[in-house]
Amino acid sequence: MTTQLDLEWLIIGGGIHGVHIATRLLQDANVNRDALRIVDPGQKLLERWCTCTQTTGMQYLRSPVVHHLASNPWSLRNFAKNYQKTHSEKPFAPPYDRPSLAMFNEHCTQLIEQLELNQLHIKALATQFTITDNHVTITLSNHLTIHAKHVVLAIGASNQPEWPTWAPRNHPRVHHVFAHDMHQHWPTSPERIAVVGGGISAVQVALRLLSEGHSPCLISRHPVRTHQFDSDPGWVGPKLMAGFLRESNMNQRRAMISHARHPGSLPPGLAKQLEKAIKSKQIHWHEDDITTLQQQENTLTLLSPAHICTVDRILLATGFSSQRPGGKVIDDLISSSSLPCAKCGYPIVDQLLRWHPRIHVSGPLAELELGPSARNITGARRTGDRLVGMIKQRARHKSNLS
Ligand SMILES: Cc1cc2nc3c(=O)[nH]c(=O)nc-3n(C[C@H](O)[C@H](O)[C@H](O)COP(=O)(O)OP(=O)(O)OC[C@H]3O[C@@H](n4cnc5c(N)ncnc54)[C@H](O)[C@@H]3O)c2cc1C
Repeated sequence: MTTQLDLEWLIIGGGIHGVHIATRLLQDANVNRDALRIVDPGQKLLERWCTCTQTTGMQYLRSPVVHHLASNPWSLRNFAKNYQKTHSEKPFAPPYDRPSLAMFNEHCTQLIEQLELNQLHIKALATQFTITDNHVTITLSNHLTIHAKHVVLAIGASNQPEWPTWAPRNHPRVHHVFAHDMHQHWPTSPERIAVVGGGISAVQVALRLLSEGHSPCLISRHPVRTHQFDSDPGWVGPKLMAGFLRESNMNQRRAMISHARHPGSLPPGLAKQLEKAIKSKQIHWHEDDITTLQQQENTLTLLSPAHICTVDRILLATGFSSQRPGGKVIDDLISSSSLPCAKCGYPIVDQLLRWHPRIHVSGPLAELELGPSARNITGARRTGDRLVGMIKQRARHKSNLS
């Protein structure tokens, strides 16, 4: 049976971005909670964030204390005062007071409970968008049809892990650390494991494996790259964003983003831990490009120009694909509504992050307007600022007219 729901705002994606945007719409823009929903296929909000971060074994976030999901920038700092009375781990790690993952997640849980966001979560996938004159019709995988005046696409990139071409997709001992079913394949008894990748997640996974009694080797295409953040913090504010926004050519903006990012990099503290583990031969480091995988009965042999590495299991920590996220549902939306895209395939949006008067974007889809940090927690906060600013301005305009 098909049922229909009429809404003011529909957020597609219940990750870091979707949850922050819902928070801002409710708390700062006075959006009526009955007129707002979040669609996400997970059993709970933030499911992909929780599983991806848990797999890596990371203890602290890479980003600083003011990057969290609540409206008030000081919320997590205040939360930490009580948290540290009942928890043994340090709430923040130097430098830049990076919050512990456990505390960050508990802060998220408190926010979701306070705002009763679970009640607004529809557990489904958006499978079709049709834009009409006065609303967008969204068809969901659970057969619900929604009419929404405004849609926010906060679909992230976590559903598209990057697979190297040589890696078989359905092999019982080759997995991507960010695959949905990774938890079912995590090794439980000591094994020789090749972790493929040289960035923060690869190194965290290798250190986690080591601490659990496995023998990890890391295979990276490049030497250790050390950067505190995945892009210069100047990209969050006008220091670097002013020049980015002055650039009107979207191909140039894409080039600026690519140049600004530090993919496959490690913060200095983690690089030191890795160096120590390599020196003591606890982690083996191979700098090479794998070309072939050979399979014997119980072992896997990775061949690269300079090395041969024989292991029991391979974990790919090769990040996410750089192609535009969303797959067919977004491809169809683009073609049915003639939505503008740059050469790189990503949306061309206005200052209010509108891809269409009724469709806003966040995360990777907002990159050509928000720059290199659009995907991060700070990118979610800046999307929130723009949406709240727009709604408040409209409300002021309306009250001036009446
Ligand atoms: C291990 C790890 C550590 C990170 N650490 C940090 C950090 O310390 N600081 C920082 O700032 N950033 C960090 N990031 C980067 C970024 O903040 C996270 O990737 C974050 O989870 C992105 O949030 P998101 O909401 O865009 O995407 P996601 O978490 O991927 O959420 C998007 C959701 O949308 C859903 N979705 C997709 N398509 C549809 C559809 N058609 N219908 C309905 N739902 C759909 C997906 O299923 C998913 O649940 C980290 C990333 C990773 C992977």
